[in-house]
Amino acid sequence: MHSLSLYDARKGLLAKKFSSVELTRHFLERIEKFKEWNAFITVCADEALEAAKRSDEKIASGNAGELEGIPLAIKDLFLTKGIKTTAGSRMLENFIPPYESTVTRKLLDAGAVFLGKTNMDEFAMGSANMTSYYGNVVNPWSKEKKLVPGGSSGGSAAAVAGRLCVAATGSDTGGSVRQPAAFSGIVGLKPTYGRCSRYGMVAFASSLDQAGPMTQTVRDAAIFLKIISGFDEKDSTSAQEPVPDFESFVGKSIKGLKVGVPKEYRMEGMSEDIVEFWRKGAKMLKDAGAEIVDVSLPYSKYALPAYYIIAPAEASSNLARYDGVRYGFRAKGASLSKLYENTRTEGFGDEVRRRILIGTYVLSAGHYDAYYTKALKVQKLIRQDFMSAFEKVDVLLTPTTPTSAFAFGEEPKDEVTMYLNDVFTVTANIAGLPGISTPIGLDGQGRPLGLQLIAPHFKEELLIQVGSALENAADFSAL
Ligand code: GLN
Repeated sequence: MHSLSLYDARKGLLAKKFSSVELTRHFLERIEKFKEWNAFITVCADEALEAAKRSDEKIASGNAGELEGIPLAIKDLFLTKGIKTTAGSRMLENFIPPYESTVTRKLLDAGAVFLGKTNMDEFAMGSANMTSYYGNVVNPWSKEKKLVPGGSSGGSAAAVAGRLCVAATGSDTGGSVRQPAAFSGIVGLKPTYGRCSRYGMVAFASSLDQAGPMTQTVRDAAIFLKIISGFDEKDSTSAQEPVPDFESFVGKSIKGLKVGVPKEYRMEGMSEDIVEFWRKGAKMLKDAGAEIVDVSLPYSKYALPAYYIIAPAEASSNLARYDGVRYGFRAKGASLSKLYENTRTEGFGDEVRRRILIGTYVLSAGHYDAYYTKALKVQKLIRQDFMSAFEKVDVLLTPTTPTSAFAFGEEPKDEVTMYLNDVFTVTANIAGLPGISTPIGLDGQGRPLGLQLIAPHFKEELLIQVGSALENAADFSAL
């Protein structure tokens, strides 16, 4: 029962093969059994069983929602009314939100059952889930060595990969849905900027943040995405775009579609395994009827530096609200400024403080033009790169990450090398484009690898269509 996809769980529940209470109990037991993965910060066992009971009644009375009774895990950055939401930080250790995020509201309205809140890098800053105040998350694929699950949605990735839930939410500012999905052998989809409401998501970099599904299959991602998408008047950047029936694109022929392979994504330091899988992935799509086209995205190499100016700049502004006065952690201080200083020193971890320092520096009067304005210009050029590529091709195929998951203790020793984890994913955020990572196979060390597809704005259906072709051909068998 534990490898049930969302699609199969829905079918099984409606056919009354099992009840939501049974399914929920099953996952709660697994969460307990695999506690050492540390995938959850909060488990809501009682609330989940109550919700499952209500779902079973709805199913019995023929009133089931689209996700009725399906146990999900929620990244601990979505505000959940009455349920602690920490964003992986000490700063919000005791924060109980008074309202519900739009994404989780939509999931609840569809009948989903929330098992709990998943661990994550502090304020979503990280690529290995090693910056959480609540400890590291262990990748369920670990064998002789303990591997990182990727980050920042590492808890959600581990929960889906380790079958502690049917599916989970993640958020992606520079790769945090796709990179941990690749490291953990699951599917992760980052929608177009504006596709899903950011209302009630703890903000990291508001012009880049997007919620996204983390699932076992491409079909599951399609079902999940449809539910969380749509305009929301509570988020001024959410888009008034119609939401297609993404699921109907699963398995649709890709004959005649043009798939671009950007040459700039062939970089030094990439593992040979991923280069090989990238080549194989292109061949699989070709065999399925697509045309493979070489394309160039010359400004891509500036995406990571631009990201590490824009994201910290916005973060430094967003995180100014954690002052120890209004809510959250408060340290002692003899004066108001000491109170601010101590609160922010003790409440934030190293990585978050580093980003705040970078952000305030690049926004300061003397450096604004040299860094921030320049990064925004680079952002425009990167967008134009993509726009011209999409005049020639329908989607782009790239690796999701340059390497597979690394072991604890073998992580990059300096921050800048750690930031390279996102080199292939940040471009989509910088350009506001949708992207998906699908598992493609295991490397020589038995660790999962993923390939990424990037589509034009609001063309997630292409990600589903081409992603499912890749999924079929790769025939990746999970844990
Ligand atoms: N790893 C990147 C960072 O640390 C991206 C994080 C994210 O997408 N939230 O900023």
